[in-house]
Amino acid sequence: MKRPLAPTSRRDFLKTSSGALAWLGATGVLHLGGATDTRGNGPAQAGRLFTLADMPRIDVHAHILSDWKVMDEFMALRQALKGQLGVEMAMWISLGSRKNPDPPDMDELRARYDGRIQFCIFDYEIKDGLRFSPQDLLKWQARGVMGFKFYPGWEPGVQIDHPANDPVFAAMDQIGMVAASPHVANPCGTHGRRTEWFAEPVEFWRQQRAWENVVRKYPRLIIVNAHMLWLCCSDEQLDCLRYMLKSYPNLNIDLATTPVFLHPVGRDNLREFMLEYSDRILFGTDVGSSWFVPELDKRFPRASEKVQQYRRYFDFLETDQELPSGIKDECKIRGLALPQEVLEKIYFRNAMRLYPHVGEILKRLGYFGDQKAPES
Ligand SMILES: [Zn+2]
Repeated sequence: MKRPLAPTSRRDFLKTSSGALAWLGATGVLHLGGATDTRGNGPAQAGRLFTLADMPRIDVHAHILSDWKVMDEFMALRQALKGQLGVEMAMWISLGSRKNPDPPDMDELRARYDGRIQFCIFDYEIKDGLRFSPQDLLKWQARGVMGFKFYPGWEPGVQIDHPANDPVFAAMDQIGMVAASPHVANPCGTHGRRTEWFAEPVEFWRQQRAWENVVRKYPRLIIVNAHMLWLCCSDEQLDCLRYMLKSYPNLNIDLATTPVFLHPVGRDNLREFMLEYSDRILFGTDVGSSWFVPELDKRFPRASEKVQQYRRYFDFLETDQELPSGIKDECKIRGLALPQEVLEKIYFRNAMRLYPHVGEILKRLGYFGDQKAPES
């Protein structure tokens, strides 16, 4: 069998991976993390009532450079969103950018932005193995990162379920490090509507199955897959996404970039899906990449100018307006007009349940008034 993953230097730690896991055990951190014991959902709907104007919104799929000037622009965007749309953008979770190898200084980040910008560690080139060893993951977790983002890549042949990746997934499972918007395969479409990004259906489904092997093997690994797992380009693909979510309770999805691909899906089907799986869907946009409403991004490239792009997402979720689809605006989509309870889950409650620190930060920022933040 072809094994594209060569034992390169980035994987050297795997030579001692059993030792690495033993070390994790010796430090007493194994089995202390995880979704249920530290971030259990509890009475998530308890607490104050929100309106669309004051509910905190969290973008779990942002690409923000480790650059203070760029981050200042996001704070300007926050003010612009409040001023122009009357909405409360509470937090961005950045999955980083290829241009910066590491997140910024985490203490400085907290001091400057009050927790409103969070970072994940990330690896955008995984065909030679995952970049972080189990020990690295622990160190970054202690420094306060939200999770680990990885991207199997555009090209065919990446084996995310290669056994060499097991020690990293096992460590993430054991210490409660969130798989933050891992991006699996790329949008393929269906016959007659293949995409220009990944037009090989057999390889697409092989990569999907390879990822399913990982999800199945690590049932406690908290996963928020990017882009609805790219199972959202047809009604039939959406059924496959239903299968994944129903089969694997540890699996969740973000919405980043998906509105520009959703037009072939029946609106009633999509709305039914969003209601049924509202506990598993998180708001995300891909802001900072060129995929955040591409047509508008060409006109408004600076972070502080991206109010209209956000408006497109908000209108899609909250209203039943007809909207341009967003890549070349050649298609139309109709907004889903989701109920407020569902919007709260998508905008912040699911993020509070799944990611570390989010609940305590929102409480500190005053979103729950005098009331205790719900245990989610
Ligand atoms: Zn992205």
